[in-house]
This record gives sequence, C-alpha cells and structure tokens, in this order.
Amino acid sequence: MSLPLTVREDFPLLCGAGAPVYLDNAATTQKPRSVLDAEIGYYTTSNSNVGRGYHSLALAATECYEHARSAVADMIGAGAGEIVFTMNTTDATNLVADTVGGRIVGPGDQVVVSGMEHNSNLLPWRRLCEAKGAELVVVPVGPLGRVELADFAAAMGPRVRIAAVAHVSNVLGTVNPVREMAAVAHRHGVLVLVDGAQAVAHLPVDVRDLDADFYCFSGHKVYGPMGIGVLYSRSSLLEDMPPFRVGGGTVKGVSTTEPVRYVGAPARFEAGTPNVAGAVGLAAGLDYLRGLGWEAVRAHDAELVEATLEAVADLGNVDVVGDPGDLPCGIVSLSVRGIHPYDVGAHLDAHGVAVRCGVHCASTFLDDLGLVGTVRLSFAVYNTVEEIEYVRSVLKTVQPGTW
Ligand code: PLP
Repeated sequence: MSLPLTVREDFPLLCGAGAPVYLDNAATTQKPRSVLDAEIGYYTTSNSNVGRGYHSLALAATECYEHARSAVADMIGAGAGEIVFTMNTTDATNLVADTVGGRIVGPGDQVVVSGMEHNSNLLPWRRLCEAKGAELVVVPVGPLGRVELADFAAAMGPRVRIAAVAHVSNVLGTVNPVREMAAVAHRHGVLVLVDGAQAVAHLPVDVRDLDADFYCFSGHKVYGPMGIGVLYSRSSLLEDMPPFRVGGGTVKGVSTTEPVRYVGAPARFEAGTPNVAGAVGLAAGLDYLRGLGWEAVRAHDAELVEATLEAVADLGNVDVVGDPGDLPCGIVSLSVRGIHPYDVGAHLDAHGVAVRCGVHCASTFLDDLGLVGTVRLSFAVYNTVEEIEYVRSVLKTVQPGTW
C-alpha cells in the first residue's frame, strides 16, 4: 500500500516553480487545500461565537466546533468530552502542570521527566517544582536514543506524583515505550502525561490503549492550522481538575455574593472565545491523514528514513545521531563532522532545502549527546526519495562557514 503520487498537488505551498524542498515538518507541516478550504468554509458560511448565543448562526458555529471535537476524539480513540482544545502542545502541558500539578505536587515530592524533553514539556514541570519545593527527576535517554523502560521504572517511588514524557523524540524521531511506562507508573499511583507533538502525524494513537492520563499534541504538526492544540484526559480526571485560565465560557453563573460555579469539562478549560476555525481545520487535517491510510503513511515514513540512511552512509563526514530503529517516525538527525549545523542549514537553504538546525528546543538533550546541535531532516507525506537524493548532492558540497 503506498501513497497516491498526487499527494504533493494537495499542498499549494509546495507546488509551482521555486517551491522549497520542505524537510522541516517536525517544526510544522504544510497544509493541504482541504484544510485551507475547511477554514475558509467555516468563515464564509458559519462564523459566529460559540457556546453563548442562541441565534441560528451561533448554533451553526457551535455545531462546527463540537463536530471538530468529536472528529479529534475519534482519531485518538477518546470520547468528545475528553478533548480540550488548547492553543498548542505547550499550552496543554502548562495547563496540566498548573492545574493538576499545582494541586498534587508539594514540598519534597518528585516529578519525573525524561532527558529528551522539548522545553515545552520540561519548563512547565521545572517551574512547578521550583514553586513547590519539589524535585525534578530526569530519566536519562538510553544508548539507542529512547528512554529504556527499566530506567523509567527505577525512577518511580513513593515521592513521585506525576511523570511527563515524549511519545516521539523531536530530535531523533525515536519512540518511547509510553504504554509500558504508563503501566509501570500507574502501579506506583503516578499520573502520566504523554507529549504526542511528534507522534500524531506518524503513528496511529489510541489513548485508551496507551492508558496515559494526559495526551497532548499540536494541530499545526499534523497538517492542521497553527493556534489549535489538543489535551486529552479521561473524563473522571478532567471533571476533578480545577480551572486553568478563567473567564467567559467557564462559569455557570457569577454573582457578587455567591462562590463562582464553574461549568464541567471540557468547557471549563476553554476560557474566552476559542479558535473555532482552527478546530475545524484541525479536524480536516486529521481527516486528510486518515484518508491516506496509516499503512501507507507508515510505509512512506519508513521508505524516506531508510533512503536517508542510505544516502548519507558513504558521504564520509556525516553521522546519523541515534537509531531510528524499527519504528521510524519521519525524523533523521545528522551531524556533519567539522561543520556547524547552522552552516549546513544555510548551505541547504541556499539550495532550496528547508531543514531545522540547532538544539531543537531540547538543549539539555543536546548537551547530553555532546553536540552543539544537529541538522534535522523531518518528513511528511509529500516528501519524496528524489528530494533526499537532492539533499545528498547538496551535502556533498557543504563547507565550513562562519559559525
Ligand atoms: N513537544 C515536542 C516533542 C515538540 O516537538 C514540540 C514542537 O516542536 C512541542 C512540544 C511544542 O509544540 P508547540 O510549539 O506546537 O506547542
């Protein structure tokens, strides 16, 4: 099963003369026309504010928003009431750290993260620990570039309240055994948040199967728009969580004399006017991905990762960082001996290739790897083996530069 050859035509930014070889998909994916159309369609037929008005257009907008919520829930095996729309993954991790973390983490407690976390799943926990007098425990990344279950299990103990781990590394594309980690954590009564920012575009995710307590991702990394993200949690947990930001849409009623009564989840966590068009676009992005089929998407990822490993194998001065292993997730990080990653990136850019270079918002991980940065090639459904061959030809000519 392979992807249709016409996939690229679905992405306007990638068509026509001068279109880049876009290999920075872990930062953000390009958007298919169906996503752009869905957003325009929403604004041209149904735009109004949601959840508050009772005129027909307000009801239509609310229906669009709730339909998008159901579509997202469907994609990850959750119930619609278990999906909170956030701005992005960062917003979701902050929400959980501030609400749940703020409630259950106290002086002397521990919060566990892994050594590969993106700042967005590290700093909210670090700040929480600093505020509460708790300890941040960092589980080291194993030699294959993923967190070993035994190391994670060894970090569990009576002081641990919550563990927050990446599903897929944004630096190496390696996959952590989050299902098994959640099972171990739960045996110790520890809540688990999984940062799925790099997973959802590459792996079918079933939150019931993973059994994580919280799962977050960003719409813009999965063919959807920027400014919309997702926090999943079980209804029983969500209903018990205190509000995050407060304001319109979060309350049943406010009087000067009575205590504030908040509405139930998920609306309790969506203060103010939400990004309705973003939610509609995200649902369209997920629908696009679903339409391609997981078997084809996974096979395409594997083909591109394999092609990259082959393409750089005999260049002589290029090392692959980590081991994509048998679950490639569309990322290969390279290190070019004697040449700073920024120089490599600038050279590729000068030849029309967009990649991400540097520490990828994971500087503590790069420090542990002993690298100033990597050159990260990250793939999406529209990338081709021919593009990788082109990258190889450009890499052959890269020279040390100004960094
Ligand atoms: N977590 C991981 C693993 C990421 O790769 C990223 C972004 O690159 C984030 C979190 C943050 O995502 P966002 O900027 O959309 O909040």
